[in-house]
Amino acid sequence: MNLQCSIDVAAAYKSGTQIARVVSEHWCGRELYCPACDSNQILPSRVNTPGLDFTCPRCDQVFQLKSSRIWNPKKIVDAGYDAMIRAIRSDRAPNLLVLQYTSEWYVQNVLLIPRMFFSESVIEKRKPLSPTARRAGWVGCKILLSGIPEDGKIAVVSSGTPEPREQVRREFERVRGLGKLPPSLRGWTVDVLNAIRRLGKSQFSLQELYQLEPELQAAHPHNRNVRPKMRQQLQVLRDLRLLDFTDKGTYRLRS
Ligand SMILES: [Zn+2]
Repeated sequence: MNLQCSIDVAAAYKSGTQIARVVSEHWCGRELYCPACDSNQILPSRVNTPGLDFTCPRCDQVFQLKSSRIWNPKKIVDAGYDAMIRAIRSDRAPNLLVLQYTSEWYVQNVLLIPRMFFSESVIEKRKPLSPTARRAGWVGCKILLSGIPEDGKIAVVSSGTPEPREQVRREFERVRGLGKLPPSLRGWTVDVLNAIRRLGKSQFSLQELYQLEPELQAAHPHNRNVRPKMRQQLQVLRDLRLLDFTDKGTYRLRS
């Protein structure tokens, strides 16, 4: 899939990074579709709102685009820390599209992270900019991809090949119910789902899940009732139809 397209003369004078942004936004506007409904296009946001790059004209889902030649499977550098935390708490974080292109401007990978997967525990605060920087004291953030379960990393393009639209939409639909939970609870749900995924098996016992208590405690240092919280989230995941309780007292993930 070629990312190349006509770029205007003004854009050509900009830095390489800005050109990449211009052409990848153009590519997304042309090639991408809404994963949340049956709209076959998403449109560039009318105003240059920071972080809001595309909107679905049919269901109003908002998509932010991050494009880069470098692919870091662990972290993505994002914008301001405070703005991101505010967006999460008020449930306004956009869906994220992570696009990787090659040095020949071909789209290599596009990953969709549905908005429901952003919680405070996957946002890492960066060091404030140095006093000599233009925006001295400004604090950015990184999104920790390792804190997001596989359920929240939907491949749209893999190694240059687009995944089928119906598959992408099915994967989005599968996790859509998470959006109905209040943001304060949703972080726990996503963290427990991630812990389950880390176990690496589709069927597991409570004792196996408890082995991951230390990492959940580390993500929620002020909580003194981690085990009850884990059990509560198993029920939430069951109600969302992501998990089944078996009659043997174990739990089974739905695919
Ligand atoms: Zn839509």
